[in-house]
Amino acid sequence: MAKLHAHPVEMEGNWPIARVTAIIPVRDRSNNVNLLKIAHCPLCGKAHIHGGGTIGSPLLLGHRVAHCVKRAEPYGYVLRLSESLQRNGEVLES
Ligand SMILES: [Zn+2]
Repeated sequence: MAKLHAHPVEMEGNWPIARVTAIIPVRDRSNNVNLLKIAHCPLCGKAHIHGGGTIGSPLLLGHRVAHCVKRAEPYGYVLRLSESLQRNGEVLES
């Protein structure tokens, strides 16, 4: 069930932290949003994409419900930027 990780999972309160490794702006006729990629989910180890809010607005980080792990209660993780993205001064973190 639970997968062994090479690195200990970072926690924020009761939630594991999922590091955002890429910010992908999507602009088309119906979208004007940033997508947030996490390369390594702390729960399943796979990559996931979450919505990150409107382009030009502070990124919507924080808690997300996990869709990769089935539990009786809602479960999830907290989105936080990777260290390399934190160093990017253009990124606004909400
Ligand atoms: Zn996952």
